This record gives sequence, structure tokens and C-alpha cells, in this order.
Amino acid sequence: MRVRLALAGAVVLATAGCGLGAQADSVLGKETLTIGVKFDQPSLGYKSGNKNEGFDVDVAAYVARKLGAKNFVFKEAPSAKREAMLQAGDVDLIFASYSITAERKTKVDFGGPYYVAHQDTLVRSSDANIRDVRDLAGKKLCQVTGSNSWRRVKEERKVNVELVEVKKYSDCLAKLADGSLDAVSTDDLILAGYAQEAKGSQIRFVNAPFTDERYGVGIRKGDVAGCEAVNKAITEMYLDGTAKRLLEKWFKPTGLNLTFTVPQFEGC
Ligand code: GLU
Repeated sequence: MRVRLALAGAVVLATAGCGLGAQADSVLGKETLTIGVKFDQPSLGYKSGNKNEGFDVDVAAYVARKLGAKNFVFKEAPSAKREAMLQAGDVDLIFASYSITAERKTKVDFGGPYYVAHQDTLVRSSDANIRDVRDLAGKKLCQVTGSNSWRRVKEERKVNVELVEVKKYSDCLAKLADGSLDAVSTDDLILAGYAQEAKGSQIRFVNAPFTDERYGVGIRKGDVAGCEAVNKAITEMYLDGTAKRLLEKWFKPTGLNLTFTVPQFEGC
């Protein structure tokens, strides 16, 4: 009899363990969170020596703490690998200039957005005639693999550009400087960071925004509780003044128009 009872207990425990197993798939309750960020985008997600820094990195650290994590580690999440990294469990969360799009939502979920950026363009200062996205017709435009920005120009606005494909936005900047392409069009937060870094050099920020880029927090599909906790943390980040402080810390010197109100959430 005793043995039977013990066995029955074991079954109950095993079932409870199953429930805990499902919970362990959530970002909630994890001691250490692995977070995907960019490594090559100054002021946003940048690796300097062994230190990660930038607005995305600071927001990630704030949210991770609010989720109850004791530690977090950063991993590079290039544009083309973000969905796959979340799906494979290589990272728990992604904060990497990651626009919420319908196509990406078929593969991953998004908390946030935690900010709404706007697509703009960077050109060589000598190209004085480029004033708007339409002026990119016939020009060589940088295409970062897995990024959505080139689609906004070529597919959505049907501007007839010639695409030059690279892996990262920092590669775009190098090619803009050496003349192998004519324009880099992507989120203003990304471009402002590069423009600031290259201060006094030969590049010009066009300042003609033409999209809303809703920066989401990438999370494994189905982690609804985790996603809701992320949204709660983002709301707190705006209410306690942290969002404004971080936006000013990283972007005030760039002169960009910043927004300090909590964005309309996507919904989990
Ligand atoms: N926000 C855009 C995107 O998610 C461009 C920046 C990027 O690729 O990281 O596609």
C-alpha cells in the first residue's frame, strides 16, 4: 500500500514537473536571459571591447531585470538571423532594431513596440540632389540581408534602385564611403548613430522620414505570459522616466526628433 501511494505521488510530481517544464520555456522565471542585440550599430547596439552599449542594450537590461532575471548575456543577432535564433532557442529575447512586420509575426512573437523609429536615408554630401526617397531612382542602394528597409524602397514605394547586398549596416557605411553604393536607407536611429560617429566627414542625413518602424521585442512564439510581462516592463520604463532618460542619453546629441510617450502596443 505504501509503495502504491508513493508511486501515485511520483505520478503527481511528474505531472506537475510537466507543467513546470512548459513554464521553463517562458522568459519568466529564468535566472539568466540570453539577449540578441546588434554589435555594429553605434548608439543603438554596439560592442566596444567586451562591453555592449546603446539604447537597445539599455532597454534590454531594464526589461530583463523587470522580468526577474539575475543575469543576462548578449549575443550578436544579425538582421538575417533574428527569427531563426529565437526559433532555435539560441536567444530568449531580441532587442535589435527589430521592426514588427506581418511576415516576421508568422515565426516569432513581439512585445512592444518600445519605440517607433522612422526610415530615412544617408548619402554622400556631394550628392546634393537626393532630397527624398524618390530621388533614389537609378541609384545603388544598400541591401542588408534579412532587413526590411530595402523592401520599403524597392517593393513598397517601387523606387527603381539597384541593390547592393551586404550582411550588416556597418558594411553599408564602408561601401557608401568608398563609392560602391550611393545610399543607405534605414531607421533614423541607426543612421543617426553612424552620422554622429562619422562627424565632419562626407556623409549627409537626408532628413525626409517616410515610414514608421515599430521596434518590437522578439520573443519565442507562444510565450504569451512572457510577452505580457515585457509590455508591463516597457510601460514602467516610460512611466518612471527611464525611456526619456535613455533616449536623451543616446540620441539627444544627434538632433533627432524624439518621442517620450509609450507607444501603442502590438498586443501579445
Ligand atoms: N528595422 C529594420 C528591420 O528590422 C531595419 C534594421 C535592421 O534590419 O535591424 O528590418
